[in-house]
Amino acid sequence: MLKAFRNLIGGKETETLSGRTFENRNPAEWDEVVGIFPKSDARDVDAAVDAAKQAFREWSLYPAPRRGDIVKKAGDIMVARKDEIAREMTQEMGKVLLETRGDVQEGIDTAYYSASEGRRMFGVTAPSELKDKFTMSMKVPVGVAGVISPWNFPMAIPTWKIFPALVSGDTIVFKPASDTPGTAATLVEILVEAGVPDGVVNIVHGGGSEVGMAIVEHKDVELVSFTGSTEVGKKISGIASKSLKRVSLELGGKNAEIVMDDANLDLALDGILWGAFGTTGQRCTATSRLIVHEKIYEKFVDMLAERASRLKLGNGLDESVEVGPCVNEAQRAKVHSYVEIGKEEGAKLVIGGEAATGGDLKKGWFYKPTIFADVTPEMTIAREEIFGPVLSVMKAHSIDHAIELLNGTIYGLSSAVYTRDINDAFRAIRDIKAGITYINAPTIGAETHMPFGGVKQTGNGHREGGAGAFDFFTETKTVYVDYSDKLQRAQIDTYSAKPGNNRKKD
Ligand code: NAD
Repeated sequence: MLKAFRNLIGGKETETLSGRTFENRNPAEWDEVVGIFPKSDARDVDAAVDAAKQAFREWSLYPAPRRGDIVKKAGDIMVARKDEIAREMTQEMGKVLLETRGDVQEGIDTAYYSASEGRRMFGVTAPSELKDKFTMSMKVPVGVAGVISPWNFPMAIPTWKIFPALVSGDTIVFKPASDTPGTAATLVEILVEAGVPDGVVNIVHGGGSEVGMAIVEHKDVELVSFTGSTEVGKKISGIASKSLKRVSLELGGKNAEIVMDDANLDLALDGILWGAFGTTGQRCTATSRLIVHEKIYEKFVDMLAERASRLKLGNGLDESVEVGPCVNEAQRAKVHSYVEIGKEEGAKLVIGGEAATGGDLKKGWFYKPTIFADVTPEMTIAREEIFGPVLSVMKAHSIDHAIELLNGTIYGLSSAVYTRDINDAFRAIRDIKAGITYINAPTIGAETHMPFGGVKQTGNGHREGGAGAFDFFTETKTVYVDYSDKLQRAQIDTYSAKPGNNRKKD
């Protein structure tokens, strides 16, 4: 029996006012419909924002450690349901089970970390410059938070946003990607079971231009946390700037791994295979470029081609499969169009370069792991995000040259350097322009208690993960308490009295 999902608004399962629906299909078996979801519009967003607004005051007054307890309980439920959620995720977006289990684990880690922050949302106290005066700052909830997420981490990314927002005391209107609405519905179901009151978390399914845009434009949505493409991020930023709405943007990447001639090549090879072809290259932190020192270039490209051509493609529910499909037809077509551009611009196709359609793969959006060698910095495949299993290899003659190549894109999310030379490693840490740098580890592998985000056109300066996420979801209030019983003027009276002399005389 095919499952039909609804929105959750004000604690009630709700049909869309339009009555329209959309299907979610398995990208590894396109005949298989995973679920039917409501195709909502701005009217549904209005209802969800109203519900979130009404729920805000009570939720914001509930103590932060207690809000954390509810989020912790959600983590406990995710632990119990981890394998089931991972399977459902693999079916709706194609990642192999090993990785979907990791995705759920990231949600669990985020739950426990965020819950602990409920007891640690520190402000500061500082000495006042005036006598008999006390100063402090504290974090206070903001209001209704819009959460718009992509499909490639269907559990992890929504939890990065929703869990800190809840612990901060905000209420939520959540629009997940329409390729992964099932996992999103499960997350909301878990939060309800954990004890989140009606209206505190609302989910509205549907498309970006209808539902996502309506959230961004809504006057009662005070902040928007968005992860997705740089193109959509720029649109959101443009609209939000008109009302000065606070927006956190986590956007695209064109991440590179550098392999120096002194590196442990087997280690670097494992890292590049995981970084470039894990999640079928569909990670914001995927290794899309490989920069290899000229002394080992030919040898390393041969080693890589040999290993990459042996990767097993297939339905991710099969535990022996290493690479799943692209998420949908359009994504596979986009990947192939970049391959055509790479060939036209003169890059050397080493392996892959076409859809994988044989045998069990014929009803899935599979694409062969693809490697281009002799890529130069001006080529399109060296500059633009492809978001698929395509790796562009470039040659460098020194660490400084490698860093210059690495920095040569509009993005700045993740980066990796394989070397045993401590001087080269530290030079790279200093000079690479990216939010994240790994030494002797691949470009993927973020941990939830550490800041996550990028520079340049990868974002707008905010960070998810770690305590910094709470800065986004809260306002800082500064408080001064003057117990001198007289007017004390900062800056003016501060230096008018001598030490010990500025106390009111009885
Ligand atoms: P996308 O930008 O197409 O969509 C992301 C979300 O925005 C979806 O929910 C979509 O429905 C919604 N959306 C689309 N148009 C919208 C609009 N006009 N207004 C409001 N919402 C809109 O991205 P995607 O294809 O889902 O994900 C892939 C992209 O996400 C890649 O560029 C990838 O690098 C990026 N990404 C970044 C990070 C990060 O943390 N930096 C993490 C994962 C993915």
